[in-house]
Amino acid sequence: TRVDNPYVGAGVYVNPQWSARAAAEPGGSRIANQPTGVWMDRISAIDGNGSPTTGSMGLVDHLDEAVKQARTAPGGNLVFQVVIYNLPGRDCAALASNGELGPNDLPRYKTEYIDKIAGILARPAYASLRIVAVIEIDSLPNLVTNVSPRPTQTPNCDTMKANQNYQNGVAYAVSKLGDIGNVYNYLDSGHHGWIGWGDPIPEYDNFHASAKMMASILGREGATKADVHGFITNTANYSALEEPFWTVDDVVGGQAVKEKSKWVDWNDFNGELGFATAFRQELVANGFDAGVGMLIDTSRNGWGGSGRPTAKSSSTDPSVYVDQSRIDKRIQKGNWCNQSGAGLGERPKAAPKPNIDAYVWIKPPGESDGSSTQIPNNEGKGFDRMCDPTYGGNPRNGNNPSGALANAPISGHWFSAQFQELMRNAYPTL
Ligand code: BGC
Repeated sequence: TRVDNPYVGAGVYVNPQWSARAAAEPGGSRIANQPTGVWMDRISAIDGNGSPTTGSMGLVDHLDEAVKQARTAPGGNLVFQVVIYNLPGRDCAALASNGELGPNDLPRYKTEYIDKIAGILARPAYASLRIVAVIEIDSLPNLVTNVSPRPTQTPNCDTMKANQNYQNGVAYAVSKLGDIGNVYNYLDSGHHGWIGWGDPIPEYDNFHASAKMMASILGREGATKADVHGFITNTANYSALEEPFWTVDDVVGGQAVKEKSKWVDWNDFNGELGFATAFRQELVANGFDAGVGMLIDTSRNGWGGSGRPTAKSSSTDPSVYVDQSRIDKRIQKGNWCNQSGAGLGERPKAAPKPNIDAYVWIKPPGESDGSSTQIPNNEGKGFDRMCDPTYGGNPRNGNNPSGALANAPISGHWFSAQFQELMRNAYPTL
């Protein structure tokens, strides 16, 4: 039987491979003992493929190590965070994390990936671990916001919406993993800077439509609401937890910030706490269990450093007011790749707020989001110009510069300069 919040009264698994990389960086020992997500980003990562992304340890190696770490954890309880990330046609709106499976490879996803992972997680040796499975980053929201007839549409997302293999894959994963009594499934639900628009006009509504899209997995492939323990926001993204100095309902110079600030642009939220709380309600209204909990990835949403404002602006121009007051220093909220100026956010923490099961570091700080120039590789990763600092953007970021750091390696590979900047701009500071 599952506990209500797996993070309460438990330690969380420290990935020895990430930990060693962090510790090898000057100053890195300050965070090298923090727990981070273990990503199963390809079929071969299950056995261990020796790649620069997932290293030599396979899933069994990690779980055996987790059993060891559990011995010194509070009450012998340890959370093991595994990321399920290998859908057919993965990352349909971007290229940096395209995967190995084609749009129609659902059968391979089921048998070679999910069934294999489930077979390992179900072993009696791991029955006392609390296994948190973070399910398929960015997948279902893409089927809402990046499909025709919207201007943000991509052909690959249209394909994945038409063949329904994201919904079928997520439902299958949730159903199979949910059969294991000590697995806690958390579905990825984007972040406020993506899903935070709840416009009454369907063409502009991401919020209600995304909750509905998530609920469309229920009843498929045997998935029930009992299989879904919760949801996660901001995975591998940069959205702040909250803005300390202003709200989207502020009015300055007689003008509503929500309407007139370019940064807000009608979004109902300015941070993940408000979004996660409201989206949770909407998910429950769409059929998920009333007890679902939320996780928030705070690995890179700290936005500290010397440029961080300390008070709200006195400007009466709504855009200037928000831009001078906000801690999130991105050029636009749709920017997602190796954001310049970002810092480590809140350290991983259990039950920080009502209905928030934990702050977690699912994206391991220092691992790139994508290469800033094209780099040939055998991991299926493409080159997305959103990772190129010279790029002028596309409809999905309002045609703004990408805000990405230069000289980045392919996604998942160690990016020392970014790791150093994240530590420098950490908030809370290290
Ligand atoms: C990459 C994965 C990697 C993960 C964690 C993703 O962007 O596509 O290969 O495991 O980030 O760094």
